[in-house]
Amino acid sequence: MPKTVSAQNPVQYWAIIPAAGAGKRMRANRPKQYLQLHGITVLEHTLNRLLSMELVTGVVLSISEADEYWADLNYQTTKPLLIAKGGNERSDSVLNALTLLNEHIDNAQEVYTLVHDAARPCVRTDDIEKLIKQASDENGGLLALAVRDTMKRSDNTNNVLKTVDRNNLWHALTPQMFRLDLLTDALQTAQEKNLTVTDDASAMELAGYKPKLIEAHEDNIKITRAFDLELAELYITKQS
Ligand code: C5P
Repeated sequence: MPKTVSAQNPVQYWAIIPAAGAGKRMRANRPKQYLQLHGITVLEHTLNRLLSMELVTGVVLSISEADEYWADLNYQTTKPLLIAKGGNERSDSVLNALTLLNEHIDNAQEVYTLVHDAARPCVRTDDIEKLIKQASDENGGLLALAVRDTMKRSDNTNNVLKTVDRNNLWHALTPQMFRLDLLTDALQTAQEKNLTVTDDASAMELAGYKPKLIEAHEDNIKITRAFDLELAELYITKQS
């Protein structure tokens, strides 16, 4: 039986925010999570959105040891905010955050983690609520976007090898939500086996789970290139 939130069943939801990337594709003078968007940093937008949700108990943020910006933000919140070390890959940063959270809480089976990229400041809280409502079980789930365009697979010289059927094909977004104990095991196993996992759901899939895809709004973009920052600015204006 999937667990739900009620007074008898006090499941907790924690946000895990990997924010230890260098963001080299932005070609900016600082990591993209520290670029300004409507007067505050991208990371502050992301934190504000997750922490504004009543269901979210606290946040674990992964910050690089070389980070020169986080301390200067002097970010304030009334909820618990734990700082974990960043790792070489995103999955290492997430695993470090999960390890810290496991030390902080009593019962990992009653905690769900919402792993969300720091670089996605436009995520809508109603999409996160939908994810929580529909995927609070062992398989967990993730926000996603159904593919609209015709998809091509190429060779290494960008010549088309074939057209890929776009039916049942999705873009995986974040947050991705899984039970703390199950995701910790899944990521640890992937790491031990040297398997590359570019998102949290892939670690769960390798462990035999079938995460649920929850259709999200397309403004939940990941800031990757300079133009994305302008787009995020427009989306945030439109949302407010
Ligand atoms: O590089 P990319 O945009 O895919 O990174 C997704 C998220 O993972 C970003 O928020 C980034 O800061 C984070 N990340 C991390 N540790 C790494 C690499 C990326 O926390 N080693």
